[in-house]
Amino acid sequence: MHAEIIAVGDEITSGQLLDTNSQWLALRLEELGIPVRFHLTVGDDREALAGVFRQAIARSDVVLVTGGLGPTADDLTRDALADATGRRLVLDAEALEHIRRLFARRNRPMPKQNERQALFPEGSRVIANAHGTAPGIDLDVPRSAAAACRVICLPGVPAEMREMWVDAVAGLLRAAGAGGRVIRHRRLKCFGAGESQIEAMLPDLIRRGRWPRVGINASQTTIILRITADGADEAECLAAMAPTVQTIRQCLGDLVFGEEDDELEHAVLRLLDQKSRTLATAEWGTAGTLAQWLGSADRDGRRYLGGTVLRSATSLPGALGLAPDLAEDPSPPREALAQAMASAVRDHYRADYGLAVGPFPRFAPEAPTPDRVFLGLAGPGGVSVRPIAFAGHPATLTAYCAKHALDFMRRELLK
Ligand code: ATP
Ligand code: MG
Repeated sequence: MHAEIIAVGDEITSGQLLDTNSQWLALRLEELGIPVRFHLTVGDDREALAGVFRQAIARSDVVLVTGGLGPTADDLTRDALADATGRRLVLDAEALEHIRRLFARRNRPMPKQNERQALFPEGSRVIANAHGTAPGIDLDVPRSAAAACRVICLPGVPAEMREMWVDAVAGLLRAAGAGGRVIRHRRLKCFGAGESQIEAMLPDLIRRGRWPRVGINASQTTIILRITADGADEAECLAAMAPTVQTIRQCLGDLVFGEEDDELEHAVLRLLDQKSRTLATAEWGTAGTLAQWLGSADRDGRRYLGGTVLRSATSLPGALGLAPDLAEDPSPPREALAQAMASAVRDHYRADYGLAVGPFPRFAPEAPTPDRVFLGLAGPGGVSVRPIAFAGHPATLTAYCAKHALDFMRRELLK
């Protein structure tokens, strides 16, 4: 059983409204074990809608439509579904009565055009909408080459759509045979190598058709490996994924820093905890990003003792007791500055480790080689420095350097 989701509305095709309904529905369908093959967005155009409905009915077993069930002239879902399936629209007396009662409760006369909302393609079942005037449509459309396609139309208002899913649709799909299987994902997070490099280290794992499936994608230089399996229940899925997870961990070693919602700061804090060590940071280029990440992840301040943000050479003496002319170092290298910042912040906060990010380079597009950012790390064993070459978009430099700094710390703690 495969599903397709269709979101309806000019608001969405024009970019004024973000289609969060499709995302929500996709997650719910997956929980029921129904994989989603297509997401489609269509404007308020009867012919275009009917065309999309025909195509969806032909290729998907379940078609979920959201939006366009309202009373106004631009709400065309029911008309287009009738067109696509060659059915008449017929009035459902009970649905009309429900809409009437809603208006009576609101002490308002029912406008004539709301009667439209009680019209359904012949043969439809009505899905009740307790808090709105737009009832849902549940229709089986016979197909010559396959079992009937189940078309379910829900209103666009997110609260109504969700309530109707929970109260009715999930149960209807379960009764139709869904829910026999579940789909589960696991995510492994990596840092320190590029996407294609990581793919090359995983022999034959990221092949289409492999089960459990392994996908790879990058999010601001963190590489995420996503493992997917289906099974009778969650335990079966997890058991099926375990050997794949183990293989990936063996192939990638220390490149894997965590799982699921883990970020590098969580990995660093875990290691600091294991070794009973503490950390302080000094940031110039990243302007407090490390402090924010580490501070939010270490809420009780047990491992992360504090951070200093510098933005100019004149603040070096006051903030860290360093001479301002350190920043006048020829550029590159500014290694001495990063090292001095790391040592000074370590002393200042009396931490086991001091981690520093030096100033960012000034971007000159015509420069033959990218300038570098220097990271400093001071610890019980001395001070070290690491240059970070950067050739990506300037807007990503902050996250890039902050993550490299955390990884510098992580690798030191893994030694
Ligand atoms: P109504 O009876 O309220 O008109 P409807 O089924 O016609 O219901 P729409 O007119 O398509 O629904 O959408 C109503 C509102 O619901 C939109 O203005 C928007 O705020 C929200 N909405 C619609 N579709 C989506 C979507 N795909 N994702 C998130 N919000 C949506
Ligand atoms: Mg509407």
